[in-house]
Amino acid sequence: MRITARREEVDAVKAVLEDPGFDNADQMAKALIKEVGSILQMRDWVALVHTWSDGHRGLNFAPFGNEAEAKSFASKMAFGGTGRIVPLHSPGAMLANHDGKKWKGYCQHDECGHAPFTHSAASAARGACQIPTCPCNGFRK
Ligand SMILES: [Zn+2]
Ligand SMILES: [Zn+2]
Repeated sequence: MRITARREEVDAVKAVLEDPGFDNADQMAKALIKEVGSILQMRDWVALVHTWSDGHRGLNFAPFGNEAEAKSFASKMAFGGTGRIVPLHSPGAMLANHDGKKWKGYCQHDECGHAPFTHSAASAARGACQIPTCPCNGFRK
């Protein structure tokens, strides 16, 4: 997974490392793995969806940190068929927005607050939230 650590992610990991409340290294390691897991759940990923050359569903791979990583993997794995890159949205960001714990990158419209990926990129509806109950028609960073 090709990723670049973000400021808020580094701060969350540091908070675990600097917490004096752990009795032993195992406890700290477990807490750290949990923390990193929830951090990674806040990210969007890329999947590689594969079809065999006879048209049958193939072998799907994920997560990749970006398209370039998925393409590089595909070019090394010469087992035939065709591959397609599919974006995977973060369930963590969606849940955090839903539960009122606003994660970085949510829509700042008072009545929306959904993650950026819920906002349409299609020309006519560009910017509007695609969640039917949402009133916003623009996403602001
Ligand atoms: Zn919105
Ligand atoms: Zn919305």
